[in-house]
Amino acid sequence: MAIDRRQEHGPFDIIGDVHGCYDELCELLALLGYKVTAGDREVTAGERHEAAPVLEVSAPDDRRVIFVGDLVDRGPRTPDVLRLVMHMVGAGQAFCVPGNHDDKFRRWLQGRKVKLTHGLETSARQMEHETAAFKRAVAEFIDSRDTHLWLDDGKLVVAHAGILEEYIGTSSGKERHFCLYGDTTGERDEHGLPIRYNWAAEYHGDAAIIYGHTPIPEPRWLNNTLCIDTGCVFGGRLTALRWPERELLSVEAKDTYARRIRPFSHPPNRPGVEG
Ligand code: MN
Repeated sequence: MAIDRRQEHGPFDIIGDVHGCYDELCELLALLGYKVTAGDREVTAGERHEAAPVLEVSAPDDRRVIFVGDLVDRGPRTPDVLRLVMHMVGAGQAFCVPGNHDDKFRRWLQGRKVKLTHGLETSARQMEHETAAFKRAVAEFIDSRDTHLWLDDGKLVVAHAGILEEYIGTSSGKERHFCLYGDTTGERDEHGLPIRYNWAAEYHGDAAIIYGHTPIPEPRWLNNTLCIDTGCVFGGRLTALRWPERELLSVEAKDTYARRIRPFSHPPNRPGVEG
């Protein structure tokens, strides 16, 4: 386990919630200068590969990718996304923190009792064609991810739903819950979804925190935090942040794969917090 990766320096390309949008991921990687090949063929958007492709990725100028999590659910090609991300992490070309969807997907793979809702039903259907060995490898991959990463001399933190300053560099049940779900109250709204608050409005740390989890129309820095989930699976865009350049790049979704119940915006501040 290594949450503390302060000795790892960039440059990094940090990618938002993919949610099974494999074509858009390949397009974004190409835009960032990565070359993905399966067998001896370059992978182009829209192409399906064989059941067990030999993937190879070449990265530009020793850059590495960091995925903010939520690789799975709702989108059309969750197994292909997992194959590519697991390959890149295994080859030392990427880091990945888990999202709440990845965690629930892992529990489903391990035979636990979970509801097939919020896009897990889509992933479950797509996984029917996959081998038992692949399913085991995926569960093991998700299970062994650290819930946040502290990088670049402490200047950069990546966590799926964000993190409180006091949790940076620590590991606990509270830290894990926050990194996966954000600032939740334990209550649910009229759609049955957890009530959330905008923790970023209360962040005052020196480390930049890059996260996803909350689909928003346009990434905007707030107190040294940046959400880069631009809702690709909901017909938005898939976005990357180049670090340390702090440049944003994105590709348009090719379709609206799922309908959004909540509005595309940050949750409200906790009562009494100015915004
Ligand atoms: Mn998500």
